[in-house]
Amino acid sequence: MAKKINRVQMNLKEQPVPEGSHLLEVDNLQMYFHTQDGVVKAVDGVTYTLDRGETLGVVGESGSGKSVTALTIMGLIDMPPGQIEGGDVRYRGQSLLEMSELQMQDIRGNDIAMIFQDPMTSLNPVYTIGRQLGEGLRLHRGYTKEQATARAIELLDMVGIPNPEERVKDYPHQFSGGMRQRVMIAMALACDPDILIADEPTTALDVTIQAQIIELMMKMQEQNGNAIVMITHDLGVVADIADKIMVMYAGRPVEFGTAEEIFYNPIHPYTWGLVRSIPDPVMTEKHPLTPINGNPPSLVNVPTGCSFSPRCPYATEKCHTERPKRYVTETGHYSTCHYSMEADFVKANAPATSRTRKAAQKSAATDVAPVKADVAEKGGEE
Ligand code: SF4
Repeated sequence: MAKKINRVQMNLKEQPVPEGSHLLEVDNLQMYFHTQDGVVKAVDGVTYTLDRGETLGVVGESGSGKSVTALTIMGLIDMPPGQIEGGDVRYRGQSLLEMSELQMQDIRGNDIAMIFQDPMTSLNPVYTIGRQLGEGLRLHRGYTKEQATARAIELLDMVGIPNPEERVKDYPHQFSGGMRQRVMIAMALACDPDILIADEPTTALDVTIQAQIIELMMKMQEQNGNAIVMITHDLGVVADIADKIMVMYAGRPVEFGTAEEIFYNPIHPYTWGLVRSIPDPVMTEKHPLTPINGNPPSLVNVPTGCSFSPRCPYATEKCHTERPKRYVTETGHYSTCHYSMEADFVKANAPATSRTRKAAQKSAATDVAPVKADVAEKGGEE
């Protein structure tokens, strides 16, 4: 006989965010893996906050710790080999890291939902789309089979699947890649989560479908007011949708700020490299795309000092020996580069793109001190 599992219902979504707190607070989170080859510091000091209605873009190359950060928040990392070495994740003021597995089961899908990278392997091939869509509703909301099917049809309709009454009975292999990704979005939104974490939701799709999927997520956010964490390796994907952006490298956030700060006033050399790698139709002739040389380091053997130093064209002796601190401006824009608060360094080396040029023109027109100097003067250390 199947063992009865006692469910926990906390309804955290209904509780107010405590004063002075944010919907989600990730505070110096560290998730290490203890392997035979050594300690892999997959997530090493991730810090950000997120509120309802906001979109955070998490950007970085493969292996930079973006997905592991999301899986740690969701409580989906096996421990061991994973181990939380420090930091905290607070949702509506409550630490998720201190919750039991039963409590996390109540949160997953209900309060915080995730769209996984590959819709084909994330859907179960032997269950119908309707059954998979209704599972969360039956678990979290106590829906009957009929109620869950009716809601599954509504959800399929909402994400633009034609003839949902029939398609709800189909299996994943009967859906195209774009339709499966829509199903994943519908599944994640089924219980109106407060936070939607989308892990490269458009990577496997062609560009026209990518645009549709992003538009759909934004439309859902407008309707429901949920917060979105959009994980991507492509800074261009989050250019028009993110309110805040965190750039990750080798398990560490190297720069965090509003989308405007990251695009118009980036202060970390790795972000400069990413910005220079985005095709710029206005300045392509004079400023061809510049790749970032080299490869990301192995996380078992992260370089001493600044982890970006072997690839950084501005690296100094200090960069190879001393790990940079997190330097924070008054606006919360932070960077982990020894020199990011030095106005002359930033001014001399920041990329000249149509975006940054536009920002400089705007700043000159309004007779305000140069943005980069402003940031440097306000800078503080953490
Ligand atoms: Fe480059 Fe040095 Fe800054 Fe690292 S600390 S990003 S190596 S300049």
